[in-house]
Amino acid sequence: MITHLDSPLSFESCSFHALNLDLLTVSGHRYLLSMKTRLICPACNSTEVKKIVYGYPIEGFDYDRFEVGGCCVTGQDPKYKCIKCESSW
Ligand SMILES: [Zn+2]
Repeated sequence: MITHLDSPLSFESCSFHALNLDLLTVSGHRYLLSMKTRLICPACNSTEVKKIVYGYPIEGFDYDRFEVGGCCVTGQDPKYKCIKCESSW
């Protein structure tokens, strides 16, 4: 099932608890953010890993710390992306 996140309000109306995600607030806008802290790439063992957030990025969004995963989530979306080898999991 694909859930389309088209507004900050949709974050609250969707049941994302099952995805083990939390909300990240950036400049008053909320983004889904994984709470897990396993930040080592399983493919290359790099620790240069970004968390992937889902939703619309806005001005001032911290692209250095977070990777934007888009506005659609399926429930099986990757939560992290490796900067070095670009694999995600
Ligand atoms: Zn890697």
